[in-house]
Amino acid sequence: MKSFQHYIDGVFCDAERTFDSINPATGKPWATMPAANEADVDRAVRAAHRALSAPEWAGLTATQRGKLLYRLAELVTQNAQQLAELETADTGKIIRETRSQIGYVAEYYRYYAGVADKIQGAYLPVDKPDMEAFVRREPVGVVAGIVPWNSQLFLSAVKLGPALAAGCTIVLKASEEGPAPLLEFARLVHEAGFPAGVVNILTGFGADCGKALTSHPLVSKIAFTGGPETARHVVRNSAENLAATSLELGGKSPVLVFDDVDVNSVTNAVIAGIFAATGQSCVAGSRLLVQRGVRDRLLARLVEKAKAIRIGDPQDVATEMGPLATARQREHIESVLAASLAAGGKLLTGGHRPEEHREGFYFLPTIVDCPSSDVPSVSQELFGPVLSVMTFDTEAEAIALANDTQYGLASGVFTRDLTRAHRLTRSLRAGIVWVNTYRAVSPIVPFGGYQLSGLGREGGLDAVLDYTRTKSVWIRTSDEPIADPFVMR
Ligand code: NAD
Repeated sequence: MKSFQHYIDGVFCDAERTFDSINPATGKPWATMPAANEADVDRAVRAAHRALSAPEWAGLTATQRGKLLYRLAELVTQNAQQLAELETADTGKIIRETRSQIGYVAEYYRYYAGVADKIQGAYLPVDKPDMEAFVRREPVGVVAGIVPWNSQLFLSAVKLGPALAAGCTIVLKASEEGPAPLLEFARLVHEAGFPAGVVNILTGFGADCGKALTSHPLVSKIAFTGGPETARHVVRNSAENLAATSLELGGKSPVLVFDDVDVNSVTNAVIAGIFAATGQSCVAGSRLLVQRGVRDRLLARLVEKAKAIRIGDPQDVATEMGPLATARQREHIESVLAASLAAGGKLLTGGHRPEEHREGFYFLPTIVDCPSSDVPSVSQELFGPVLSVMTFDTEAEAIALANDTQYGLASGVFTRDLTRAHRLTRSLRAGIVWVNTYRAVSPIVPFGGYQLSGLGREGGLDAVLDYTRTKSVWIRTSDEPIADPFVMR
């Protein structure tokens, strides 16, 4: 079996405890992972804290920090294939997806490399003639980055990029599920030449490693991606250190399809929106809201396409959908699906494990027709290949259904009516509205959700400001002696 190490204070090291990582395509262990305990976390945070003010890092100009990020971006590009193979082995995500996503991860590092020397303070027109005031932007401090198992390299790039551009140091916790690509990525950080302690990468379980990291007194900022339940733990943990916290959580994103669309084109968008990454994506378009006039034609095409999806070995470039990442995840989907059918949901296709893939955690692409938002698959995030369909007649009804959720991460609108599209971009309560497209992302555009989908935004220019804090500087410019405070004038 392959084995992986932690990267702490510039050194690759083993942990006292290890655990086996399971290949979801076979259901069998394939690698040994280190499990960080409280002492490992403490060592990593202290290393990051020391590095924060060490001249090797604090003494660099912003441009020099940007150059290190550029070097990291180049290394990611050069090693994308190897990282993709590891991610596919450890999470079951198909190689086509991991390869193209990791290729794009490099763009995030390039973007934040360019941002590093554009972080500006301000000179203020202060209302006192003998004073000057300006605001410096300084790194916020040690960052605790926590990522879930899906897309770990991508989700850490949106934390590492702005954190390092701003001059912070970071301890990044890979998920205990599928940590291989992020632990391997540490080798690229090392090769890029970041000083020891600036980036520390470890993995371990939430209850000890995650808790120790998010409550550590030397942590100033927490950048968390995961589920809302875990986010509540993280927020409670942060009561210890009062760290600024950003949360990127789950979703139950609606895709609204109106009568005037091209059915074939929308079929492709809906299929990619829900079945890419086997549905294990925070922005999965898991609720299809379809107008009555196009409903039958669209559902017929969707069922036909879903049935034709090629399921198989995720390392094979011909495979179109791989397994779920864990057995637990598949059991969760099966139990919510059973409750949904009991609540009136009607299965249009899928709904069970494929006969021909008995090993591994496979599940068929599934479409359920749902009479109301009370059906569990409509209200709960399944994080799997299950599309719940509801039908509407009017635009107002579509908006009400779309917003009838505790989540608010993404949404999609398909229509040729320009004015309607504009109205919907205002009415939908979600951090992202895609019109006649789905899943477009870019380092240049902010990403994040409303309500249970999170707090704060990642990506874009403003995200870097979350990794800074301001310092207001006052300078008296008069040479006159300071007046005695006890002498009345
Ligand atoms: P999870 O919440 O179970 O775990 C996320 C991370 O939190 C893991 O690294 C885990 O070890 C850690 N953790 C667990 N308990 C902790 C604790 N008490 N303190 C600190 N850390 C702790 O999520 P998951 O099942 O790995 O991932 C799926 C979830 O992530 C879904 O809800 C999905 O929508 C969400 N997600 C959101 C985004 C986004 O950008 N909005 C992206 C991807 C995934």
